[in-house]
Amino acid sequence: MKKLALHWQILIGMALGVIFALIFTNFSWGADFIGDWIKPFGTIFIKSLKLIAIPLILAALIKGITDLKDISSLSKMGTRTIITYVITTVMAVSIGLVVVNVVQPGKSITEETRNELVAAYGGDAAMKAAASKKQQESGPLQALIDLVPENIIEASSNNRNMLQVIFFAIFFGIALILIPEEKGKTVKDFFDGVNEVILKMVDLIMLAAPYGVFALLAALVVEAPSADLFVALGMYALCVVGGLAIMIGIYLVLVKVFTKKSPGFFLKGIAPAQLLAFSTSSSAATLPVTMERVTEHLGVEEEVASFVLPVGATINMDGTSLYQAVAALFIAQAFGIELSFSVQLGIIATATLASIGSAAVPGAGMVMLVGVLGYAGIPEAGLALIFAVDRPLDMCRTVVNVTGDGAVSMMVAKSQGKLGDPHVKEWDDNYVG
Ligand code: ASP
Repeated sequence: MKKLALHWQILIGMALGVIFALIFTNFSWGADFIGDWIKPFGTIFIKSLKLIAIPLILAALIKGITDLKDISSLSKMGTRTIITYVITTVMAVSIGLVVVNVVQPGKSITEETRNELVAAYGGDAAMKAAASKKQQESGPLQALIDLVPENIIEASSNNRNMLQVIFFAIFFGIALILIPEEKGKTVKDFFDGVNEVILKMVDLIMLAAPYGVFALLAALVVEAPSADLFVALGMYALCVVGGLAIMIGIYLVLVKVFTKKSPGFFLKGIAPAQLLAFSTSSSAATLPVTMERVTEHLGVEEEVASFVLPVGATINMDGTSLYQAVAALFIAQAFGIELSFSVQLGIIATATLASIGSAAVPGAGMVMLVGVLGYAGIPEAGLALIFAVDRPLDMCRTVVNVTGDGAVSMMVAKSQGKLGDPHVKEWDDNYVG
């Protein structure tokens, strides 16, 4: 019998997780049962994905760079990648601004609801604001300083330091290209092998994906806030989700125009990574799967994917930047603050930078949103307004972040003549479809 395609298996897992939780919340012990006996399996699933993110970045980037063989191809690909990432991010923020200006969701928030939300979520919002303050207090070149690790073991010990690991891997890869080939061969072969092993680990973890997402979604349902809040914030949430949907449409057009691949082909290839992004709210945790899908199912050659994707997972967050623009204007509208056209133009720049600076982990976009609010003179207390629906929106924006990385990797691969046919590994029989 033909095995069900992976994205269907994951979707069924997600749906069953939601149904299971909805049934169990009817019992007084249901939420505790899910928290104690179901949620841990979701946590284990995410942890095992995160576990391989740093070794994957190291091995894949070093392999990718040495496969390029010379520095000029690396700088050509690097420049194209960064420029494309910035362009898509600016497009995303602009879409967010247009949607929120047209719909004006903040205007429908009554003063009563606003006060209620501030009272209920003010404490949580203050914590996010404090986390962000720490980042803002540093000098203008702090981001550059932070890019360079002083100890690679220490940098690799925290998934939040991915940019530092990327810096080390690129530096190491460049040095490896510069030494005589016969001297570097053993090292290169070693990293090639490690890369293969890690991709196999991804395959094995993905066998558990339908069960992992079942547990994750069941836990999310029992922890979700009351439905009333969703109604109050419904227009805002719809603006974010609508903007994100437009962005997905733009990727499909870009992929079609630049690579001639059909939307169906792209979506089918990337779908498991999207579903995982949705379930985990983390581009970093999803990275190993994005890598596997893009190389084996979308035809991007490994040397391109292993550079473009790790960099994208950390700096290219189109969904996050779009959300930050919508959220900032929503809060301004709710507080009755008019933002001039020039301030809104400034939001394009700050949201682009804030999304680049957001870590690829759940909730990071909201921490960096504080910077955008500060720039535009919008009260930080406004974070409390959007807190309740942030998790579901985080799930959706992470899908767009990951989809954007996949689309750009195909475009860069095409421009480098490195977009081939999909090639699911022969020994890999886990995937059908
Ligand atoms: N969760 C997002 C990601 O990992 C970041 C964010 O917007 O909070 O891509």
